[in-house]
Amino acid sequence: MAMAHQPVTVGVQYEPVIGLEVHVQLLTASKIFCGCSTRFGDPPNTNVCPTCLGLPGALPVLNGRAVEFAALGAMALNCRVNATSVFARKNYFYPDLPKGYQISQYDQPLAEHGHIEIVARSGRKRIGITRVHLEEDAGKSLHEIPSGGAADVTYIDLNRAGVPLIEIVSEPEISSPDEAYQYLTRLKEIIQYTGVSDCNMEEGSLRCDANVSVRPRGQQEFGAKVEVKNVNSFRFIKQALEYEIERQIEVLHSGGRVEQETRLFNSGEGKTYGMRSKEEAHDYRYFPEPDLLPLVVNDAWQAEIRDRMPELPEARRGRLVREYGITEYDAGVLTGRRELADQFETAARAAKNPKRVANLVQSELMGRLKARGLELEESPISMQGIAMSADLAETGAISSKMLKDLYDLAFERGQDFPAIYEKEKPQQLSDPTALGRIIDEVLAANPKQLEQYRAGKTTVIGFFVGQVMKASKGQANPALVNELLQKKLAAD
Ligand SMILES: [Zn+2]
Repeated sequence: MAMAHQPVTVGVQYEPVIGLEVHVQLLTASKIFCGCSTRFGDPPNTNVCPTCLGLPGALPVLNGRAVEFAALGAMALNCRVNATSVFARKNYFYPDLPKGYQISQYDQPLAEHGHIEIVARSGRKRIGITRVHLEEDAGKSLHEIPSGGAADVTYIDLNRAGVPLIEIVSEPEISSPDEAYQYLTRLKEIIQYTGVSDCNMEEGSLRCDANVSVRPRGQQEFGAKVEVKNVNSFRFIKQALEYEIERQIEVLHSGGRVEQETRLFNSGEGKTYGMRSKEEAHDYRYFPEPDLLPLVVNDAWQAEIRDRMPELPEARRGRLVREYGITEYDAGVLTGRRELADQFETAARAAKNPKRVANLVQSELMGRLKARGLELEESPISMQGIAMSADLAETGAISSKMLKDLYDLAFERGQDFPAIYEKEKPQQLSDPTALGRIIDEVLAANPKQLEQYRAGKTTVIGFFVGQVMKASKGQANPALVNELLQKKLAAD
């Protein structure tokens, strides 16, 4: 079926309704119900034991750290943590689920009633979070299609079985793919700040399923819901939702009925495909997990957990604007990751002008990292280096062109800024006669400032030093310039 583009109908006649389910792996050292390591990338099936293999007679023991991480994450998402929650068995068969059930939470989850604030077209908007619950991850199936007509092979790696997860379920209050993208970006940012997960999508520590339906604008009931599963980047989720909304509108518009089903997104084609319909959907036959007591997180424990809450991104943005005088936009970029914000603050505190640091980090540093596909951690230039370069530029000791060249060299040679500067710094001009000439020119060109100086405003000398530095293209020896200027003005 050819897809007719009818963007007008989305806003006017039809309204999309989106809810998101996000799974986040917690950064505990061991699994949720046994002592096995959670380390990513170990040889397959090396981090397993009778409990996470589901062998008969093995009993789960809850990892307290997983509870604390889950509660901290939930609190950061403005949820209320329930004093008592209950683990439940979610029964289904899948080769990477050796027990035949997953231990999750059902009607009594760990936390409820949270929200995330996003900036929608209409202004600030709150997206409700229905619940945050704790559960164990399943293993991983690795499919291989051999060449030469041999049969397909599937390998099972159970290292991931039993890694602690939180599932974060939103209310169906997201009204566009763009809002979904923003919600996910904010969610990831907040969770990363708490440190309970690295939210690394490539390693699967953050995974997202989207529920999307379309209804005629003004209708109260929801339309038939389609679940789009396992999309591995926020950009793809946005694309999958855009495609799906258009597809559903097309179906409704031509008088058809949208099937309630699960669909998979093919990122190469930018399309979703039906996977299984409601008729084949699972009945999970949930019941309380008999091997675990109800989970009690009392007030004292909750208070203890809350004490560990770091400053969250929204609050930090506000503080950076106030403290360093940078713009909201700059603060938004610089707080995108906690590490970046930490590093920015280190440099901003060390430098004369924080605004210049903000600009350098965004334009000169981030730009070069992005162009080379490097992470912040891999940057050859440290924040001390950034602070030093900012001060050199601030005093006019180096021009902005020279700063760019030095940054390029730092990236080429994989060396920090101070080392590069030491080697490549401009030859200093320390000849008193030559400097004297420049000083005379500067004084002659700025009679107003000279008058101010004579009237007693001695701080103007800083201005003159700056002008001499500029005139000498940053090559003048600043200490000597200062000395010569003092003498000259005193003799005047
Ligand atoms: Zn184990």
